[in-house]
Amino acid sequence: MATLAQRLKQLRSQISDAELVYQRQPGSVLLLAVSKTKPSEAIACAYRSGQRHFGENYLQEALKKQQELGAYAITWHFIGPIQSNKTKALATRFDWVHSVDSLKIARRLSEQRPTHLPPLNICLQVNISDEPSKSGIALAELPPLCEQVAKLPKLKLRGVMAIPAPQQDFEQQRQPYKNLYQAAAKLGLDTYSFGMSGDLKAAIAEGSTIVRIGTALFGERDYS
Ligand SMILES: *Cc1c(COP(=O)(O)O)cnc(C)c1O
Repeated sequence: MATLAQRLKQLRSQISDAELVYQRQPGSVLLLAVSKTKPSEAIACAYRSGQRHFGENYLQEALKKQQELGAYAITWHFIGPIQSNKTKALATRFDWVHSVDSLKIARRLSEQRPTHLPPLNICLQVNISDEPSKSGIALAELPPLCEQVAKLPKLKLRGVMAIPAPQQDFEQQRQPYKNLYQAAAKLGLDTYSFGMSGDLKAAIAEGSTIVRIGTALFGERDYS
């Protein structure tokens, strides 16, 4: 079993290899370490190996880790479903929120972002697999929502986020990302948050700028 430091090194080289193969700018893909369900010690361990960006899905769990890791210069990303009664904590405690899928949530985040902090970085979550149960807006709703969110003063609209249905085949993995990239590129956005442990290469091939990696870095999650 490889250590966390070894897996991190391996992931960094997988990312830079994919950047090279798909003619992406070296260093243009950020590794976001998805630490949900994992203890603060695992985050601290990755941090000591140079990792700075961490993603969390559950607010209470994230707040606890932020408190435990207060001495670390971590950039915190929220990537989980958002309930409107949680926006204040998100606006106060995070640097990025990837999972915004309504104007109502975006407005609350903007209103609740403390004035002493820089604008909150936002991605709009798009449902690119046409699964009715998944969260995220339809691709057709992206341009009008972008226009509205871009006007909110305490937010910085950065880009799009997607979680497609899992696919094994490489070409099938690429297709939804290609569609999303083409639609989003017209909107002047700079961030494409897609690609997870099972499809990071396909995501980088199609323009990802943030890959969100949990399992391949920290191992399987235990929800028991
Ligand atoms: C859990 C999660 C990930 C990480 O998935 P892995 O397959 O473990 O790499 C990425 N993005 C989101 C939104 C997640 O909830």
